[in-house]
Amino acid sequence: MNSQRHATPDTVECVRCRARFPLEHFRLGMRVPCPACGQEGVPRLVHSGFFWWDVTFGDFHGLLLDDDTREATSRRVLDWLGWTLNSQEEEAFFVDATGRRHSLEAAHLLIQHTPEWQFDLYQMAMNFWR
Ligand SMILES: [Zn+2]
Repeated sequence: MNSQRHATPDTVECVRCRARFPLEHFRLGMRVPCPACGQEGVPRLVHSGFFWWDVTFGDFHGLLLDDDTREATSRRVLDWLGWTLNSQEEEAFFVDATGRRHSLEAAHLLIQHTPEWQFDLYQMAMNFWR
């Protein structure tokens, strides 16, 4: 199973200089540097590409915060990475067995780069969203 086959990136727009550039679908909602002006920000979707089982960062964040999906989502991250969901002063993050903190972005990228986890998370999300 290869989630990258025949995938084409989305087209996004920098909210500062309005330059358009390609971005992998699963990076939607993440802060990324603009290749034109260098400003880091969350670009706006202009045109959707073609993808298989990508879940965007915005959706992953939502799955972790929503009362209906938090447990199922955080349990998967614990099974896969050994990281426990935690939060402090409205900021959510993960903590590993050694007590080290990891960002939601770090967990998201590891999941999106592991085809079987990516597929499983997509299926789980679709079951809630349908
Ligand atoms: Zn820009």
